[in-house]
Amino acid sequence: MLEMRHVDTFYGNIQALRDVSLEIRDGEIVTLIGANGAGKSTTLMTICGINRARQGEIIWNGQPIHELSPHEIVALGISQVPEGRLIFPDLSVSENLDLGAFLRRDAQGIRDDLDYVFSLFPILAERRRQPGGTLSGGEQQMLAICRALMARPKLLLLDEPSLGLAPIIIQQIFAIIQRVNANGTTVFLVEQNANQALRIAHRGYVMENGRIVMADSAQSLLQNEEVRSAYLGM
Ligand code: ATP
Repeated sequence: MLEMRHVDTFYGNIQALRDVSLEIRDGEIVTLIGANGAGKSTTLMTICGINRARQGEIIWNGQPIHELSPHEIVALGISQVPEGRLIFPDLSVSENLDLGAFLRRDAQGIRDDLDYVFSLFPILAERRRQPGGTLSGGEQQMLAICRALMARPKLLLLDEPSLGLAPIIIQQIFAIIQRVNANGTTVFLVEQNANQALRIAHRGYVMENGRIVMADSAQSLLQNEEVRSAYLGM
């Protein structure tokens, strides 16, 4: 579905991604794990066209997308939930969700998807008129995921959805990610919480200093001695 081929990305003179190649297949949950500053967020930003690949290619269902603008990339079916959620605190829950559907014109489809996201997170339905900024951290993360789903993406990119949340809330968010995937959305999950991420993923990549250093099934990565000592605290 999506392939990065030998991608280099820079911030000015600082090289953040080095020869990154990876692939995400239709229907999968793929996770990218790595330490702080490894380049995980930059990988997502490069897929979305917010940062530009200086070298290499990004291919979406056979079509190169690395020269498209971010909104053209969203229109193809790729939505990102950025790190830190970035919801609009003064807009209501409903208005935040409407923004996720801003490229769509199919009113009935939008209503159906609103029902769908409210069925995933009933608490958001209860709070639909409340300003986004009054929600708890976990609810804001739910809202950010739902807003991305309102674009009806084929591929959902998630940047550290567990960041700063209590363990019980993290469990809920990860369970919902699995449900969204089971309902047909492919997921690329960036996480520092490697243990949880590998438990729900089909495959994983490990990133260090801007490079992919390991790629395997999630099951094998969970059992890999290097991964266990460096990322799973075992
Ligand atoms: P984190 O988990 O902390 O978000 P990450 O793995 O997502 O880490 P990135 O945020 O992609 O890592 O950062 C990769 C590298 O690029 C780091 O060395 C970081 O300092 C650098 N970097 C990120 N954003 C910028 C920026 N706007 N300007 C300059 N350097 C940046």
